[in-house]
Amino acid sequence: MRQSKLFTKTQKTVSAGETSKNAQLLTRGGFIYKNSAGIYTYLPLGWRVIEKLSNIIREEMNAIGSVEMFMPALVSKEYLQATDRWDKGVGFKVVSQTDLDKLQAPIRQLADKLQEEYVLGWTHEEVITVIASNYVNSYRDLPFFTYQIQTKFRNEKRPKSGLLRGREFMMKDLYSFHTDQKDLECFYEVVKFAYLRIFERCGLEALYTLAAGGDFTEDYTHEFQVLAEVGEDSILYCNKCKYAENKEVSKLKTGDKCKECNGKMQSANSIEVGNIFPLGTKYSKALNLKYKDEDGNEKQVVMGSYGIGLGRLMATIVEKYNDDKGIIWPSSVAPFGMHLLSLDKNKDADKIYQTLIEKGVQVLYDDRDVSVGEKFADADLIGISMRAVVSEKSLKKGGVEIKMRDSDKEEIIKIDDLSK
Ligand code: ATP
Ligand code: MG
Repeated sequence: MRQSKLFTKTQKTVSAGETSKNAQLLTRGGFIYKNSAGIYTYLPLGWRVIEKLSNIIREEMNAIGSVEMFMPALVSKEYLQATDRWDKGVGFKVVSQTDLDKLQAPIRQLADKLQEEYVLGWTHEEVITVIASNYVNSYRDLPFFTYQIQTKFRNEKRPKSGLLRGREFMMKDLYSFHTDQKDLECFYEVVKFAYLRIFERCGLEALYTLAAGGDFTEDYTHEFQVLAEVGEDSILYCNKCKYAENKEVSKLKTGDKCKECNGKMQSANSIEVGNIFPLGTKYSKALNLKYKDEDGNEKQVVMGSYGIGLGRLMATIVEKYNDDKGIIWPSSVAPFGMHLLSLDKNKDADKIYQTLIEKGVQVLYDDRDVSVGEKFADADLIGISMRAVVSEKSLKKGGVEIKMRDSDKEEIIKIDDLSK
């Protein structure tokens, strides 16, 4: 992509309200735009990062045999009433214009109390359970696993910390359906390792953490926590084997002996990047999802659900990978593989760019008519792992000057070797 075609620009400052590192750097770099409190647009650069994250997640979800689908954001009242979650106060309720129009002016003010018919989906256990009941009859139809990557809506009271907590945010939600608890427990372990692989591929060490059930289940759940000062969660974790518990449920204290090894428990702030839930039969009971076993007896389907927030994941990566000049993306999630900078209005740079594109390299090409200083500063702020500079000086030295974002070492590489 030619940078001259990118309509966004980097900026030196952000509004005083954005106190978190991720919001500041992503806004300054032109990755995101804040539309309202807790509501962000992914600009072209940011959307490319989201695509990279989505692809990693898709690969790992497909590898464990789950299949992708896409459910509606508008969730009708009857779904959440069935499980007593309609009035939890988590979602944004929606009223249709035709229903509003039927009301007299004074009554209109009461409209959202009277006419709530949908909620903007903040999770989809109910919706997928109802869909599943249309297709599941016998034990032969189980198990199956399905996921989507979709926007969720939650009425977070005071959204702060940028993409870490939005009112509208992207989530990968996976749901699994089993004949019994044992089969669920098996798959739960499989998902655990798939999640750990996803976070590792994104450059993050996530701790598998015992946690509370929240609005989803009475049971324990497991969260994937990344240690970070800005994190809103507090966990206890073992300094040796990394066994971890969320302080919400833990009976341990700092300095206690680990349950799993002879290490000591430490406390830290952390970011919950993922959460997995052994749902059991809560949703299948409420929504009548049954199957016939081998002897023809009717039984309740056993379920699990598994979430990862994509925006929160992106923000966590930025919180971990930055310096005073900007973001330092791990190459697996960087918006481009290479940032090519043309200095001195160099004619050869265009040709080099074309060749790289033909060879399938993802390049952001800074062809803009701006100062050298500005190009370097923007490249550092945007944070693409590899910077390649074409200038008269570099060409005299025999090629293109390469520098990795996380290193000071510069190196000349021959033009023919660049795409390698
Ligand atoms: P939190 O405790 O941080 O409010 P949650 O436990 O309510 O989150 P889950 O219902 O477990 O969230 O959602 C699954 C995943 O979706 C979370 O692990 C997180 O990565 C992401 N997520 C949840 N809420 C938000 C939000 N408001 N903004 C961005 N991502 C979110
Ligand atoms: Mg959670």
